[in-house]
Amino acid sequence: MIARSQPENEPADWQHAQRDAFTRPTDLLAMLGLPAAAVGLSDAAAAAFAFRVPRPWAARIRRGDPDDPLLRQVLPVAPEGRARAGFVTDPVGDRAAERAPGLLYKYRGRALLLVTGACAIHCRYCFRREFPYGESVGHARLDAALALLAAAPDVDEVILSGGDPLSLRDERLAELVTRLAAIPHLRRLRVHTRVPVTIPTRVTPALVDWLCGTRLSSVMVLHTNHAQEIDDEVAAALAPLRAAGVPLLNQAVLLKGINDDAQTLRELSTRLFEAGVLPYYLHLLDRVRGTTHFAVPLRRARQLGRELRDTLPGYLVPKLVREQAGRPSKTPLVP
Ligand SMILES: *Cc1c(COP(=O)(O)O)cnc(C)c1O
Ligand code: SF4
Repeated sequence: MIARSQPENEPADWQHAQRDAFTRPTDLLAMLGLPAAAVGLSDAAAAAFAFRVPRPWAARIRRGDPDDPLLRQVLPVAPEGRARAGFVTDPVGDRAAERAPGLLYKYRGRALLLVTGACAIHCRYCFRREFPYGESVGHARLDAALALLAAAPDVDEVILSGGDPLSLRDERLAELVTRLAAIPHLRRLRVHTRVPVTIPTRVTPALVDWLCGTRLSSVMVLHTNHAQEIDDEVAAALAPLRAAGVPLLNQAVLLKGINDDAQTLRELSTRLFEAGVLPYYLHLLDRVRGTTHFAVPLRRARQLGRELRDTLPGYLVPKLVREQAGRPSKTPLVP
């Protein structure tokens, strides 16, 4: 991220939480009362993709449990070094879909804008863990992306993504939204973010203002993989967004050893709904290098998808999909 300091102001709570994150696995493990050897911590894996876990999210990890489903999403482990055919640096063809620096245009009508490479948390299974953000994002590069959007009348939705767009300050985001709203053919603004889950104080009044005070219709898509990630603080943080009428959706990734059983996925849908969020997508893992140990076989994924369809109300069933480079949409896996 191109960090710009704000010397005249005290950092907001969420900015402090973002900076104060655990950046050394051993510090997190000490808090959890877990010896590094008991959890399979790998320094080589941590060197390949930096470790980062904000404290509010870390507080939801169970003490003393080496298999905790939150811990396993963020812990660097030796199997990340495993190579396997088909696990590559850019499994979904993001670079080929880049029409201007940071602007991915794959699907008809909606374009995705990478506004930063920074994330509050580093998820080990991240499909963009090797994305060369340095070549694509940054304030100075926005002009070209916005010019391209303005010249693409068939695009009516813009998706702010990254990295995590909510890593940026509200002033920057408000300015960006103003510029987007000035493009007449744009109708919807979508924000893809994990930060309301990882640092709930990030949902500030200023955020609600820029998200709702625009002529564009706004929608927020969160990223949560396990019910244990949604505590009362997260639910309370989402309340102002619900009150302002912003539709809240969730995407999850199907992850071996974390949420690959029907009861866990049902609990996730149920808990999301209680917090005012509807399940949207359940993604099959994108095959990025270093993530082989998270892969759930296709047959098993389909079986889980059918089981959810047969045991949940329709509105709590996420669409089980896979992303395949070159396809016109995500590919559904359960009819
Ligand atoms: C997933 C994705 C979208 C959004 O797809 P929806 O099916 O509308 O949620 C848009 N652009 C890119 C590049 C994507 O990867
Ligand atoms: S929050 Fe999203 S973009 Fe950031 S590391 Fe996690 S999966 Fe990747």
